[in-house]
Amino acid sequence: TPPEPVLELRDVVIHYGRIRALHGISLQVGAGELVTLLGANGAGKSTTMRGISGLNRLTEGEIRFNGEVISGLAPHERVKRGIIQVPEGRRIFPGMTVLENLDMGCYGRKFESKSSYDEALDRVFDLFPRLAERRKQYGGTMSGGEQQMLAIGRGLMARPKLLLLDEPSMGLAPMVIQQIFRIIAQINADGTTILLVEQNAQQALSRSDRGYILETGTITKEGSGKDLLVDDAVREAYLGVA
Ligand code: ATP
Repeated sequence: TPPEPVLELRDVVIHYGRIRALHGISLQVGAGELVTLLGANGAGKSTTMRGISGLNRLTEGEIRFNGEVISGLAPHERVKRGIIQVPEGRRIFPGMTVLENLDMGCYGRKFESKSSYDEALDRVFDLFPRLAERRKQYGGTMSGGEQQMLAIGRGLMARPKLLLLDEPSMGLAPMVIQQIFRIIAQINADGTTILLVEQNAQQALSRSDRGYILETGTITKEGSGKDLLVDDAVREAYLGVA
């Protein structure tokens, strides 16, 4: 059992019109944990993330954050509580500079002082020195890996209590993927609770405390990252080994 749950989904059902995308999923993320939700294309990973951030409405079930039911709250109310989503496909602002993109992460959020803004920015630049070097460069001119770093950095500027990462490795070269996962593990080690959605089983599970397997809208398995990584069915389905 995980530590004190920060995030708890109970029997969550989500529809798109008449299509039932999630069939009643339950999962937990404990304080300080790095948890992976692993699933193939179309399994419902993004739908789950969007349910947590409030972009998809639940038709059944509930979501709790630090014990409080949040599934009825508007997305901005969840952001205010520290639930920050880094969307799939990065969605940075191509016509804005790196620094402007980062500032968008804390747009409308009050910092106690200039120095707390500087601290947040310093932390992002410590994690991603490349972003510091390129702070005046336009987002759209950065490489795929740099754009993913920028998307995560922008999320961190909102000072998340729970960081939702939707397929951060998507479309990136193996070397860059390793780098991104190392940084994700670092962010978690620094104290941020993370729920990660991935198809890259090896990298994600090897760095996760726990994981859940999502198949066509149902959670079929859960366990420690290490146990799932050596599970025969998981290896066959997600690691391409029989
Ligand atoms: P991917 O890795 O491809 O993003 P996923 O695991 O995130 O996959 P979802 O995008 O959550 O999967 O999709 C889950 C199911 O819901 C799929 O069957 C998909 O076709 C369906 N779906 C997703 N978005 C919509 C939508 N806007 N309208 C109708 N059906 C949708």
